[in-house]
Amino acid sequence: MDFSLSSEQQEIQNLARDFTRAEIAPAQLKMDADHKFPYELWRKWSDLGMAGMLIPEKYGGSGIDPLTYILALEEVATESNTFALIWQVHVLVSEMFRKFASAEQKDHWLPLYSKGEKLAAFALTEAGAGSDSYGMTTKAELEGNQWTVNGTKIFISNAGTDISDGTVLMAVTGMRDDGKKEISSFIIPQDADGFTLGQSFKKMAWHGMDNRELVFEDCRIPAANIMGERGAGLRQALGGLNLGRIAFGAIATGLSRGCLEESLAYTKQREQFGQPLSSFQLTQAKLSNMACGLEASRRLTHYAAYLFSNDMECRKEAAMAKLFASQRSTEAAMDAFQLHGGSAFMEDTKANRFYREAKILEIGEGTNEIQQLYIAREMGC
Ligand SMILES: Cc1cc2nc3c(=O)[nH]c(=O)nc-3n(C[C@H](O)[C@H](O)[C@H](O)COP(=O)(O)OP(=O)(O)OC[C@H]3O[C@@H](n4cnc5c(N)ncnc54)[C@H](O)[C@@H]3O)c2cc1C
Repeated sequence: MDFSLSSEQQEIQNLARDFTRAEIAPAQLKMDADHKFPYELWRKWSDLGMAGMLIPEKYGGSGIDPLTYILALEEVATESNTFALIWQVHVLVSEMFRKFASAEQKDHWLPLYSKGEKLAAFALTEAGAGSDSYGMTTKAELEGNQWTVNGTKIFISNAGTDISDGTVLMAVTGMRDDGKKEISSFIIPQDADGFTLGQSFKKMAWHGMDNRELVFEDCRIPAANIMGERGAGLRQALGGLNLGRIAFGAIATGLSRGCLEESLAYTKQREQFGQPLSSFQLTQAKLSNMACGLEASRRLTHYAAYLFSNDMECRKEAAMAKLFASQRSTEAAMDAFQLHGGSAFMEDTKANRFYREAKILEIGEGTNEIQQLYIAREMGC
């Protein structure tokens, strides 16, 4: 079995690592302080071809494979889960455009997403429809050559910045013959009539990311703004979630790595009882567990990414990567906090940020319980 990376993969991994240390780490401190979207950082990242990493070259993208993207995502997440998530949502939605949008929609939106001039967002969740996305009530009705959309989405990432545009919205478009809801996806221009940005949420971490309510009141969009076939919305969303789950595996792996690197450095220099903390066996047990969790998370994530990159079935593996890696990163963040003692309680330490960032990885992109249900279903339960 060959675990080596190609020279292109190593090059992009190194590029992401260098940029993360030089640019993302200091920008993360700024985001923690001012809670603002990092426009300048996004522009620089986009200039490296990262915003359009998976988008084909004919649309101005870099046309790079998903496994390489996953390698770069881990690097970013070692220093900033916030920026990793901003990028992850953008890539995920760009992939939906690539797979499901019409030729005209791709020609218009993909060059803008490739250059990072516009930021992509995905609106599925509602106050009454989280894990049960089928429970959504946002409606879209076709009248002549226009859809009229009514409803409210919550928690939506990336949708309310100065460069947000083309948000992919899931809405109920009628009832199917079998009595189930017909759900379709739509492209919402930021300036659509009747579309307004609602409250922006105050969060315990991911401070530079925009998360908000999106309100649709008789919002009118052209009939041509439906994405793909009418009624294919949920299928498209679930298809997109495979890549999203693998990406969460990579982000959680990056978080575990940040926890381990920070804890190793700290426990080697901090002395108590006349010895470095790292010389105590109870400390070593925590560090060793973190290292095992990190390696296993990375292997599971890379395997799922390998299947995805080769167009092979990966529903179970994507769910496993997300479930396992996020469990391990929560444990790693708790151990890193413990190893840093009282200093980890101070908000400006990395150990504190890792702890605040970790738990949400067990909830976003489908909660861990939903991943467990998926895996069980794949095993025939
Ligand atoms: C910071 C942030 C960013 C987000 N960004 C986006 C975004 O960009 N786009 C978007 O559409 N959504 C987004 N979300 C929403 C996110 O996907 C949901 O929060 C998530 O899917 C869970 O839904 P919920 O919060 O309503 O929890 P619920 O579904 O209410 O779940 C609550 C608890 O019940 C458990 N549970 C639910 N059903 C079952 C079951 N059948 N069996 C066992 N346990 C169950 C869950 O696992 C969980 O532990 C974001 C959320 C956050 C916090």
